[in-house]
Amino acid sequence: MVALGGNAIAGPGLSVDYDSMAQAISRAASLIARALSGSSVRLVITHGNGPQVGFLAEALEHSGSYIPLYLLTAMTQAWIGSMIKRFFERSFSEAGSPRRVEVVVTHVLVETSEAPIKPIGRVYSAEEIAKLERERGWRFSKDPRGGYRRVVPSPKPLRVLEADVIRALLDRGFDVIACGGGGVPVSGLEGRYEFVEGVVDKDLCSSKLAVELGADRLVILTDVRGVALDYGGPRERWLSKLTVSEAEDLLKAGVFPEGSMGPKVEAAVEYVKATGKKAVIGSLLEAEKVLSLRAGTVIEP
Ligand code: ADP
Ligand code: MG
Repeated sequence: MVALGGNAIAGPGLSVDYDSMAQAISRAASLIARALSGSSVRLVITHGNGPQVGFLAEALEHSGSYIPLYLLTAMTQAWIGSMIKRFFERSFSEAGSPRRVEVVVTHVLVETSEAPIKPIGRVYSAEEIAKLERERGWRFSKDPRGGYRRVVPSPKPLRVLEADVIRALLDRGFDVIACGGGGVPVSGLEGRYEFVEGVVDKDLCSSKLAVELGADRLVILTDVRGVALDYGGPRERWLSKLTVSEAEDLLKAGVFPEGSMGPKVEAAVEYVKATGKKAVIGSLLEAEKVLSLRAGTVIEP
């Protein structure tokens, strides 16, 4: 299972216009197709939707209409999923090992949570956010890349409703795109569930699905080379390896931010604990090495 972050599906500055997205996704596709060329391993691709779901929410505000975040997430699964399908199928075909990659609209059972911790949309200036906080009641937090981003509730994923469907597709030889934007959050009983407001973290959703499918490896590709201690600080140190218990201690000590590296490490820990297999967090640009555990931070039992 390969989880793609913002840098694989949006342009510089988190722009979501067609050309920037196409450029980002086609780069991700060719990096991963090259890494898997000739391999018969089945692939599940998951992806975030922070930039896109925030863009839709803002555009709808301007048009005076309201559609809840959970349905905006459903829209982004089709929008981004369709682009991933096209560019990945093209790259695999060009690499001489064609694959069929199918998109599954994914719902995820969640534990409701109101805390606004998930950054979405573009980067705003301090002047812009004062107005938006006042007029729309939106919440913001500082972004590590500079400026501010809107933050929304991020319910905790428990179980992917379509896990059985995804498995059936994999068994039939299809690759699958799932858990887009962390999945559409729902709660309640099977067959009688309700939608839940918020945006689920895609890494946490991916880990649930990876465990349910018994995936051989969980690969989280992002815009940094791995997990660092004292990230951005004077004693910054990049880790090539973390055991589950080391990672758990760091999570407990609260060294990783909730909206970014925190859920990646948490996702990796949960997957490794449940399966006894390895997870890796690394840079999309080093995809080939990260996929084979020769770069990035490897989380192991
Ligand atoms: P993605 O869109 O790939 O999910 P995120 O923005 O959610 O990316 O998470 C990646 C970001 O996490 C990096 O760009 C980096 O700024 C931030 N980050 C925070 N703490 C750390 C850390 N300890 N080590 C590495 N990156 C970190
Ligand atoms: Mg993220």
